[in-house]
Amino acid sequence: MLPPVKKDRVITHLPKCFSPNAALHTKEGFHPQVKAACQVQKTDSFNVAKVIVVGDVSVGKTCLISRFCKDAFDRSYKATIGVDFEMERFEVLGVPFSLQLWDTAGQERFRCIASTYYRGAQAIIVVFDLSSVSSLAHARLWLEDAMKENDPSSVLLFLVGTKKDLSSPELLAQTEQEAIRLSEEIRAEYWAVSAKSGDGVRDFFLRVASLAFEANVLAELELSESRHVKDIIRITDNTGDAKPKRKSNCC
Ligand code: GDP
Ligand code: MG
Repeated sequence: MLPPVKKDRVITHLPKCFSPNAALHTKEGFHPQVKAACQVQKTDSFNVAKVIVVGDVSVGKTCLISRFCKDAFDRSYKATIGVDFEMERFEVLGVPFSLQLWDTAGQERFRCIASTYYRGAQAIIVVFDLSSVSSLAHARLWLEDAMKENDPSSVLLFLVGTKKDLSSPELLAQTEQEAIRLSEEIRAEYWAVSAKSGDGVRDFFLRVASLAFEANVLAELELSESRHVKDIIRITDNTGDAKPKRKSNCC
C-alpha cells in the first residue's frame, strides 16, 4: 500500500500564478464544476498527468525537478542521459493525483529519442536560464519540437526561468520582460525560480499539478457529458421520441 500523500502536497485551494501578465488563467479558485465533481468524488480516472521538461543543456532542468521531488540541490553537473522520470503524488480537493515528470536531455544527439517521449504530454515545461539570454531564445525551438507530438489545444504550457539567484535585479527585470512577451505569444504561464535557494519551486509545481488536475477533470466531465448526450440520442433514434427507454434486459 502507498504511504499517505505528504502534507505539503495536499492542495485545497488553487495556487496563485506567478505573474498575472503571463498566466494560463487568473481565476481565484478552481472551476466550480471541478469543485462539485470532487465533492461527490465523481472523478476517479485521469488521475495521472504526464509532464515533460525541456530546454537547453545545463539550464537547470534536473536540478529543478530534484529540488521539488527530493528537496535537494546538487552543485556538480551530471548530464542527464536520454530521459529520466519521477512520479510525484498529490491530493487535490481530496482526490489523489500524480504528476509524471519527464526530465529530458538537452543534447542534440538525444533529440530524436526524446521526441517519442514527448507524446501524450498534458503539460510542457520549457526551461531557460535567467542568466543566459540565448537559452530564452532557444525556448521557442524546444517548444516547437515538443508540440510536434502533441495537440496544442489540450496542452498546458509553462515557461520557467531558473537560476534566479544568479541574476542581478537589472538583468532579471530585462530578461523577465522578454520572457513575459514570449509567454504571451506562445500562451504559456511564466515563472522565475531558483533550484539552489528553492525560491518559487514548490509554488510552481503545486500550480502545475492544480492546473493539470483541473484540466483533466473538466475533460473527463465533458467526455461523460457527451457520452450521456449520445445515449439520449440513441434512445431517441430507437423510439422516435425523447423519453428515456428501459434497457431490453430490464424487467
Ligand atoms: P540540465 O542539463 O538542464 O538538467 O541542468 P542541471 O539541472 O544539471 O544544472 C546544470 C548546472 O546548473 C549544475 O551545475 C547546477 O548546479 C546548476 N544550477 C541548476 N539550477 C541552478 C540554480 O537555480 N542556481 C544556480 N546558481 N545554479 C543552478
Ligand atoms: Mg539534466
